[in-house]
Amino acid sequence: MNLGATWAKAWIRTSADVMSEHRVELINLDREIGDGDHGENMDRGFQAVLGKLDDLPADAAPGDVFKLVATTLISTVGGAAGPLYGTAFLKAAVAVAGALELDGAALVALLTAARDGIVLRGKAELGDKTMVDAWTPAVDAAAAAHEAGANDLDILIAAANAAEAGAVATEPWVARKGRASYLGERAIGHRDPGAQSSALLLRAAADTAAA
Ligand code: ADP
Ligand code: MG
Ligand code: MG
Repeated sequence: MNLGATWAKAWIRTSADVMSEHRVELINLDREIGDGDHGENMDRGFQAVLGKLDDLPADAAPGDVFKLVATTLISTVGGAAGPLYGTAFLKAAVAVAGALELDGAALVALLTAARDGIVLRGKAELGDKTMVDAWTPAVDAAAAAHEAGANDLDILIAAANAAEAGAVATEPWVARKGRASYLGERAIGHRDPGAQSSALLLRAAADTAAA
């Protein structure tokens, strides 16, 4: 589909479904190297967004959808992930403000702004075993796909594939940010929950664009 507000809403609705479906999986990942609430946090946050999506005006743009996601996640999700995802969606909203439909360049700008927001907020670097390790490969893959002339859907698929690989790549690492950093070497062998939820989110973006 064209990447307008209908897609943006479908992306967020699908994300809410996916966070519910993967709630236990994310809880279990966070139980290994955190406090076991990541699945609950993401599910609660996206369910809250779901309840507000229908209140958006009919002429809302994708940026309005992302702004609603940002403010809702910030106010309903506790812990690290709420402000991090909240800032990501806020920066994404600013990056595409005013556009009624996103093209490839806008998609890359959206993903880049989201990643930059996470880094601005959390100060994590690549390899710190955080959600940044899903987002940065996703941004790089999206930019490369766009430069190679890929269409919107293939840009999103490239981003989702890279985010999934990035999340898997966190498994052998020691964490240097967030709760998992308290564990030292005991974090080795466990996938970062935030990287995993980021990969789920980006897969939902691609899946809804394909519909
Ligand atoms: P909390 O750790 O407060 O319980 P969550 O469990 O919801 O919050 O989220 C944990 C996830 O947040 C981690 O798996 C990691 O991906 C991400 N995270 C934590 N701190 C940072 C940070 N400084 N920068 C980027 N991501 C971070
Ligand atoms: Mg947690
Ligand atoms: Mg917590």
